[in-house]
Amino acid sequence: MDSQSQYDVIVVGGGHAGTEAAHAAARMGAHTLLLTQSLDTIGQMSCNPAIGGIGKGHLVREIDAMGGVMGRAIDRAGIQFRVLNQRKGPAVRATRAQADRNLYRQAVRAILDEQPHLSLFQDTVDDLIVERGTVRGVVTGMGLALRATAVVLTVGTFLGGRIHIGDHNRRGGRAGDAPSIALAERLRALPLRIDRLKTGTPPRIDTASIDYRALTEQPGDSPAPYFSRWSRGDEHPRSVSCHITHTNPVTHEHIRKALHRSPMYSGEIEGVGPRYCPSIEDKVVRFADRDGHQIFLEPEGLDSREVYPNGISTSLPFDTQIAMVRSIDGLAGARITRPGYAIEYDYLDPRDLHPSLQSLHLPGLFLAGQINGTTGYEEAGAQGLLAGINAVAHGREMAPWVPARHEAYLGVLVDDLTTRGTSEPYRMFTSRAEYRLQLREDNADLRLMPVARDYGLIDEGDWQAFCAYRDAIDRERRRLEQTIIRPADLGDDHGATRLGKPLRREQSLMALLRRPEISYDDLAALSAVGEAAADPRVREQVTIAARYEGYLQRQAAQVEKQSRYEDRALPADLDYTRVAGLSREVQEKLTHHRPATLGQAARIPGVTPAAVSLLLVHLQRGE
Ligand code: FAD
Repeated sequence: MDSQSQYDVIVVGGGHAGTEAAHAAARMGAHTLLLTQSLDTIGQMSCNPAIGGIGKGHLVREIDAMGGVMGRAIDRAGIQFRVLNQRKGPAVRATRAQADRNLYRQAVRAILDEQPHLSLFQDTVDDLIVERGTVRGVVTGMGLALRATAVVLTVGTFLGGRIHIGDHNRRGGRAGDAPSIALAERLRALPLRIDRLKTGTPPRIDTASIDYRALTEQPGDSPAPYFSRWSRGDEHPRSVSCHITHTNPVTHEHIRKALHRSPMYSGEIEGVGPRYCPSIEDKVVRFADRDGHQIFLEPEGLDSREVYPNGISTSLPFDTQIAMVRSIDGLAGARITRPGYAIEYDYLDPRDLHPSLQSLHLPGLFLAGQINGTTGYEEAGAQGLLAGINAVAHGREMAPWVPARHEAYLGVLVDDLTTRGTSEPYRMFTSRAEYRLQLREDNADLRLMPVARDYGLIDEGDWQAFCAYRDAIDRERRRLEQTIIRPADLGDDHGATRLGKPLRREQSLMALLRRPEISYDDLAALSAVGEAAADPRVREQVTIAARYEGYLQRQAAQVEKQSRYEDRALPADLDYTRVAGLSREVQEKLTHHRPATLGQAARIPGVTPAAVSLLLVHLQRGE
């Protein structure tokens, strides 16, 4: 880095959003600088040492399909991998991995270090350079003025961060890190809507002080799955188990007695916390009739002596934390190594963003991650990827990448945020996606690698490998549809022994595969059917295509119907008071949100299908 440089893209923050943004921009060939408070905390997991899970694993696969960092890093750092919902349909199957925190950070750093066009530099950003309403760079704590065509801010929980433990509170970005105060003040002076959110983390426990004997062991899957299509299959470190324990009525009594000293209940914290990852005090109050809550004891790493007790995030006073932990089975002698705490921080209203994650009011400024009101590494990483791509696209005057809701979870995430905003930390679930049968973990590469190719994110060799894979699926589908099998082809018993029941009439192999009791392996074992596909991913894709064909076709028809008006642009200066028939309430909502398309308008809470029809009529009249 030199102090006079002009960059294409400057990314501020080396967390999960920032690393993906910087990596994506550099892969597109942009001259990119990643500026962060501490180079030693690049890729740091602020809270639980885990990546993936339902909805989140889908995002990791999407990041991976676009050539991103997270999938490869967790494959090198995961110490326990599981596929969740194995027995359910493919749409909700999801991969989750426990991470060794240090290995994860090292893996992210190694991937960034190998990336051409990317420089890393340690400094704090205190100010933005804004010229004629456009962001042109940043000013650092050291006084460097660094210029760029686009700036991506990914400062996580650090903006105006305040840490709470009981009635003790202090400024902080997360435990051990300074908050970002000057930048928070600068942003509050700009025309941006800013509010407060909060999140929390549990105390950590010395593993040597835990009595594991009475606890339920939870091992990982064997063989362990991989997140990344770029992994070779020999990257995983050794695997370790988690253990399960529970809170009990005594734990809950300790918590209830200390509620008046909890910053959440004393009114000290104003920010709203994550609904789906509540603190233990929240759970005890909200589910007062429950006398136990599950806790997963997750190792923090292979060489770490610390354990993360997933399920008891808290900001209660430290003495209560000790009493509560020691009341739990297996933890009677527990030694706490770090206290649990809550953190309150500024976030910027994501409705002030274009779906490209560029600011509506400050061109050249892109925002990604927790700063947009989300929670979670995967949500942050996915936004970072998108913002990084679009920051480069902005400088090159290319169209931004805005995936639709039926194309990617990333499309759902960005559309939800920029259209509806959020008043509590937003996390991804499969239930947020209306087309989830299309948006599976297993087909993220089929959905997104062509986009990655268009934006220059993957190289020719990877593209050719992908094309060969896609062709193999097409060929195998055609072969299964065209290969007709007759009962006599299956021997004297017409296949009864191998298929469970005899084949009664001739049919295609594809039709046979539609039967739930017949797997691809059963078909492959029939000698009369020709050569089966060797690649297990091809086998999986054709099986899903066979089993879910009807549903997938129905969903495709819905997408088609929706797309007739989904992308219909709404003029930026449209005067909604002149649209005949719209109620005043809808007029106000549309004027406030200024949706870019009719599809976005339809998703604004309170905008009815009838109102959308009126808008459509108005647009058609104007043509
Ligand atoms: P971060 O990972 O926070 O990264 C921000 C980066 O910006 C850091 O590298 C920081 O050093 C850098 N930075 C900040 N300010 C500046 C500046 N001015 N100049 C230069 N660099 C700067 N997620 C969950 O899913 N569930 C949870 O229960 C949960 N609990 C959490 C509890 C706590 C206490 C914390 C702190 C976080 C928790 N998270 C949780 C959130 C999770 O850590 C974040 O969602 C994720 O890390 C966000 O990624 P990010 O890239 O947006 O920001």
